[in-house]
Amino acid sequence: METLTVKAGNVTIGGDSPIVVQTMCNTHTSDVAASVAQCVRLHQAGAELIRLTVPSLAQVESLRQIKEQLRAQGIDTPLVADVHFSSEIAIAVAEVVEKVRINPGNFHKDHEKAREQFARLVEVCKANGTAIRIGLNHGSLGERITGLYGNTPLAMKEAVMEWLNMCVENDFYNVVVSLKASNTFVMVEAYRLLANEMQNTGVVFPLHLGVTEAGNGDGGRIKSAVGISALLSEGIGNTIRVSLTEDPANELPVAQYLSDKYGRRLHSTMSSLTLEGKKAIATYCAPSKERLLLDFSCDFGKRLLDKELDEVVLKGTYLDENGVETVLDDSQYAEYLTDELMQAARRRFYRPEYIACPGCGRTMYNLEGTFEEVKRRTSHLKGMVIGVMGCIVNGPGEMADADWGYVGEGNGKVSIYKGKEPVLRHVPETEAIDRLLELIENQ
Ligand code: SF4
Repeated sequence: METLTVKAGNVTIGGDSPIVVQTMCNTHTSDVAASVAQCVRLHQAGAELIRLTVPSLAQVESLRQIKEQLRAQGIDTPLVADVHFSSEIAIAVAEVVEKVRINPGNFHKDHEKAREQFARLVEVCKANGTAIRIGLNHGSLGERITGLYGNTPLAMKEAVMEWLNMCVENDFYNVVVSLKASNTFVMVEAYRLLANEMQNTGVVFPLHLGVTEAGNGDGGRIKSAVGISALLSEGIGNTIRVSLTEDPANELPVAQYLSDKYGRRLHSTMSSLTLEGKKAIATYCAPSKERLLLDFSCDFGKRLLDKELDEVVLKGTYLDENGVETVLDDSQYAEYLTDELMQAARRRFYRPEYIACPGCGRTMYNLEGTFEEVKRRTSHLKGMVIGVMGCIVNGPGEMADADWGYVGEGNGKVSIYKGKEPVLRHVPETEAIDRLLELIENQ
């Protein structure tokens, strides 16, 4: 899809440019040394853009120092400030970084005031050559929009179009857009609607793709690959982030794979495909387990999401970590990968659905370890949607349609949510998983 060209420092997004790979720090931005060290590692791992959270005005100065120290080391990777709930922070930090991500759902609580503040932000961005991402998430749609359109992909598209129209009114086009959701079906539909609408208006902003709160491990990778590849295969998407509840460096090989595959620098290792109605029988000859997982997700995720297929049978071989050829036909591993793919494409739920944020500088507890423990102790709750979120500021909103939520409050305390309501607050972290399990069992 032909798009406008956006410049964030030395990186070009959209136009004819290759798909840009990005990630986000999970350090506290106020810890400048730790943030610089992580940025260096992420740069070395291939990040072309690095985002850091800016929870308060104090971190604007931290970000300035982080940037100065990176530039002093010869690292030019553009930095993106992630801003929620404060238009003043967005305006202040736009002088410091190459790109500012704002969330239309929480930029300003008053809609008219939001327009004024956005115009101020645009002036600062114009003066400093800063790009903006209008980063809307399914979980943080405002009440006004959901009142009009429900909690739907259409509502996401309509909400973001209001902001893109504001960009045009302010004659500002250095803008990237995202419409992330944890639900792959919602995410793909929202981006398709937006791409179509922008083409109709004739002003097509580049798109940042991502499946938000995708979780970790194989499930997080498969879910991300399904959502992102469905769109990239249609020519939709210019920059991507694979969100994993892991070390952010782990996101980059997956994102690079997707960038290479849809930049036509990599081909699937599927060696044959037989179709029997809506059933596909696919044979692979994969050089590794990781490659098999990603090829399989990209080759069939979209077709399952779009209901072109109802079933996939996985056959063939892959090389294990010792280089030994391992047969997939009728194996437990083939069954497991197929189950994960069906779940990621929302066609069959064989385990709970987890919504876990990747963590960022707002996270106040051991998110990765806690998420693993929650997964281990809830694995029997097939079909239930469980959220594990790093902070109380964004977590409750971003959990979207979770049945239960574990949300870090800070200071060693946790809130437990049932749907959108907190049912227990200030639970010590050491007890919180037990309390969550008790509530689920006694409901
Ligand atoms: S929900 Fe997670 S990723 Fe989002 S702001 Fe909070 S800690 Fe960061």
